[in-house]
Amino acid sequence: MPLSARTRLTIWAIAALTACSAIGAAIGFAWHCCPASNCTDKSLLLGAMLLLIATLIALFRRLVDRCLKPLDNMAQRCRTIDINHLDQRITTANRCREAQTLVFEYNNMLERLQKEAERIRRFSGDASHELRTPLTILRGETEVALRWAKEPEEFRETLQSNMEEIKRMGRILEELLVLSKSDAGELHLNRERINLLDIVQEIYSQAKTLAAGKQINVALNINVDEEVVVVGDDLRLRQVFTNLITNAIRYTSAGGNVVIHLGRDAQHARISVCDNGIGIEDEHLPHIFERFYRSDEARNRAAGGSGLGLAIAHSIVSAHHGEIKVTSSPGQGSDFTVILPLADQQQSAPQ
Ligand code: ADP
Repeated sequence: MPLSARTRLTIWAIAALTACSAIGAAIGFAWHCCPASNCTDKSLLLGAMLLLIATLIALFRRLVDRCLKPLDNMAQRCRTIDINHLDQRITTANRCREAQTLVFEYNNMLERLQKEAERIRRFSGDASHELRTPLTILRGETEVALRWAKEPEEFRETLQSNMEEIKRMGRILEELLVLSKSDAGELHLNRERINLLDIVQEIYSQAKTLAAGKQINVALNINVDEEVVVVGDDLRLRQVFTNLITNAIRYTSAGGNVVIHLGRDAQHARISVCDNGIGIEDEHLPHIFERFYRSDEARNRAAGGSGLGLAIAHSIVSAHHGEIKVTSSPGQGSDFTVILPLADQQQSAPQ
């Protein structure tokens, strides 16, 4: 266990003071006891003692310098550190506990910043990629129409297809805006008392309409016999459940089942959306709420997803002091559960 700098300095100071006192006493003793004729010996003795004291002071200074050296190192590193050099780490052979802790925490901080910088870089790359795809389609189709189309019907078809891409870009930008507001803590929530029973029933009807085209069976399972009231933003919470339902239908094949559950315990409401669709591999599960993450890039992009739905759901649920969880098995299906504090619990939570 390394000693703290305070303990070290105290020990060194005591040792130096003791040595100086001993030297002083020795000088005094030699001065009085030596015969008067032996003046040269006395001067030599005095000189030797002074040299010893100077050596002790120099040694003490060196020890203090060694203890403070990591601070100098860090100051120097701080001058050179920028977003492109976050992979540099400091090492120290210093045995002071404070120095070791400082270096350890400093390196940890760099590690966190490096991960965050990588995340931001990846995010900007993904965002540009997502927007470039519909733009490329828009451009290609418009060029083809300008060059070859002659009939009004052909132009109409191109414009219709362009409209789809414009809507897609608008949706991505809208979603990015929600996420950036949420990151900045500026996601405005119109908080009010909401009975989740009402929301879940409306979402259920929408889900049935959405699923009808795909012959997917949607069921509602309500396990409560009283109101389930939470404090939250009605529109945002609907957005969360709509995202989960859209995914459940998108990633379930024809003939499959989607079930919406509503339950509660003493403190929380639980809403689950379960499907028996394609499921998610274990390796993808920890990343599923990351922005632009798709477990199957090509297939999920083709299915029309932006890869932002779950990230948004996660942000909104967190802003409501809730939790969103997933369990899934490939080929068996997925179960997304949103847990929200009930109204009485939430009133005491920070806004
Ligand atoms: P997307 O818009 O691509 O669906 P999401 O953020 O909503 O983006 O979902 C991220 C990824 O999580 C999806 O691309 C898909 O791979 C996976 N996923 C989400 N929900 C389900 C589900 N119910 N079943 C299987 N995979 C899912």
